[in-house]
Amino acid sequence: MRPARALINLQALRHNYQLARKLCADKALAVVKADAYGHGAVACAQALHDLADGFAVSCLEEALELRAAGVSLPIVLLEGFFHPDELAQIVEHQLWCVVHSEWQLKAVEQAVLAEPLTIWLKMDSGMHRVGFSPAEYRAVWQRLQASKNVATVVLITHFSRADEIDSARTHEQFQVFTDATAGMQSLISVCNSPALLAWPEIRSDWSRPGIILYGSQPVAMQGLSTEKFQPVMTLQSKIIAVRELPSGEPVGYGAQFVASQPVRVGIVAIGYADGYPRHAPTGTVVAVDGCLTQLLGRVSMDMLAIDLTGLSQAGVGSTVELWGNQVSIDEVAARAGTISYELLCNVKRVRYEYTAV
Ligand SMILES: *Cc1c(COP(=O)(O)O)cnc(C)c1O
Repeated sequence: MRPARALINLQALRHNYQLARKLCADKALAVVKADAYGHGAVACAQALHDLADGFAVSCLEEALELRAAGVSLPIVLLEGFFHPDELAQIVEHQLWCVVHSEWQLKAVEQAVLAEPLTIWLKMDSGMHRVGFSPAEYRAVWQRLQASKNVATVVLITHFSRADEIDSARTHEQFQVFTDATAGMQSLISVCNSPALLAWPEIRSDWSRPGIILYGSQPVAMQGLSTEKFQPVMTLQSKIIAVRELPSGEPVGYGAQFVASQPVRVGIVAIGYADGYPRHAPTGTVVAVDGCLTQLLGRVSMDMLAIDLTGLSQAGVGSTVELWGNQVSIDEVAARAGTISYELLCNVKRVRYEYTAV
């Protein structure tokens, strides 16, 4: 069997949720959209079921997968519904539903529903992706309050630059949100992971941590916590071939790496078809049997090359960690010109192995 594997440490996930929860003023939705950022939504939600206040996903299909697996906690649909037809199932499965646009608002008002909904009313406080403008927000809130189809409204907005500690944008957005919602008797939800890490003065009733649950940190934590988020996924494979190359010989497609001295090369059974980024350049860190070394040349679809020079104990069968406890996924992402979120979501084809909780 091909040795490429994603090891998922559910204990680390639980640790991270508990640490994230300490950063929150009150409740925390564990964001498990996109198959829990590539970790397996059902396994992750089940592992958090006795700890979490609720979950957030992007759409009805993702929520139904969790409900089918026995997840009974609140689940928020972060983009609401994509067609009014979905409202019946949203009611049936007791899902909480974002409303971000006029067409959704009208559909909620006009639907004939068995029970009233919990609506998370989205404000566009400055990201300019989805949500009602601050100017129209109060009128929309009043329409929802007046609707027979609505039981509860939660006020939600999303930050566009919370991972930039030198940017004033997060405070500006929070001020816009606070001003536009003044006096509304509803719970609020504003903080994603970067906001929880970098902006301790900004808090809300419902936080929405995602990436920190999986052990990546998009920005340094402010404040005094000495506890750390732990990587949940270890992406690993094994060396399947070794070659000694003299100075002047290239490695891989396009001869992107040429040995400037004799080099011992290990070929690892993992590549971009498994989700390892093709844009990771020579020099990107990997770990072999616990020793740090580097990628050489271009990543192929099913294989990549690493430097074994000086690692005489490593050879065919040695385990290589692409990211995990030894190799920071944030470092790999930075080298590849992307973010940990994209790397995690893109993992595929590899065998998943879960450590029991
Ligand atoms: C994905 C998402 C989150 C989680 O973001 P992280 O940066 O992973 O914490 C929170 N809120 C909304 C609306 C999202 O779409």
